[in-house]
Amino acid sequence: QAKEHGRNTYCFFTPQMQKYHTRHLLLENALRRAVEREELQLVYQPQMSLHNQQLIGFEVLLRWHNPELGTISPAEFIPLAESSGLIVPIGDWVLSKALTQLAEWRAEGYNQITIAINLSPLQFRQTDLLAKLEQLLAQHQLPATTVELEITESAMMDDPAAAAHLITQFSDKGCKIAIDDFGTGYSSLGYLKRFSLSKLKIDQSFIRDLLTDADDKAIVSAIISMAKSLELTTIAEGVETLEQQQMLHQLGCDDIQGYFYSKPLNRKDATAFIRSHIF
Ligand code: C2E
Ligand code: MG
Ligand code: MG
Ligand code: MG
Repeated sequence: QAKEHGRNTYCFFTPQMQKYHTRHLLLENALRRAVEREELQLVYQPQMSLHNQQLIGFEVLLRWHNPELGTISPAEFIPLAESSGLIVPIGDWVLSKALTQLAEWRAEGYNQITIAINLSPLQFRQTDLLAKLEQLLAQHQLPATTVELEITESAMMDDPAAAAHLITQFSDKGCKIAIDDFGTGYSSLGYLKRFSLSKLKIDQSFIRDLLTDADDKAIVSAIISMAKSLELTTIAEGVETLEQQQMLHQLGCDDIQGYFYSKPLNRKDATAFIRSHIF
């Protein structure tokens, strides 16, 4: 940007801005090659039912380790992937890899397992996303009902009409749609009814102080009762303690996910987790 306005504008970059800018470019260039260099990895975080303590499935989370830069947090590289458009090829890789893993688990007889995949706003708006997903489902002979797509409120509310159309298409095929980080965005509650959603993921910021903060408890309780009357499932994110789990059970939450049960696991540990938590 500074270049466009001539060299004189360069002095408007503070050392901090320069540093940020350099890291940004460094990461973006490295991210561009991350897929082909096999630096990306998927981890799987268990999602458990509070009704019967059974494993429902896993949320798929992306990890990036670069030999020079070390391990970079998704909180840093996902926004960068989104702004550069790299999230599209990376997201395709995630979909393909996650469905391959799910098919492998099903082949071992674990056919009740579902996977939840995060979609960034840009990915969600891709016109051929549904076709890509259907192709992968067919290739691995997976029912669409085994796949849940997580989108955020802002992805939905950017263009509600377009989002409604996309969500209907996915749910007509049998895929489930979950609203991620629910409560942190600004979704119009009216849309929740109109969209063919299946699940609300209660954001971890409301769970953290659930036992001590009456406001958080009131919010979580309100989300759960609203979801029930709209026939949506609820899952709480970031559940770390037994006390939080018990409180969520008492409030009528359906499912939970968090360090209390398990951190995100690599494929080997996730497979072991399935073996010890199913049937
Ligand atoms: P998210 O989808 O809301 O994922 C939940 C985050 O909370 C994950 O962070 C997870 O590791 C963390 N978490 C889970 N349980 C606990 C807990 O008990 N306590 C605490 N403190 N944290 C917990 P992570 O893996 O760093 O991912 C951050 C965000 O990056 C995700 O938030 C998601 O928005 C994005 N992301 C990750 N993988 C992908 C991906 O494949 N595609 C896209 N588009 N976004 C992704
Ligand atoms: Mg998520
Ligand atoms: Mg979340
Ligand atoms: Mg989040």
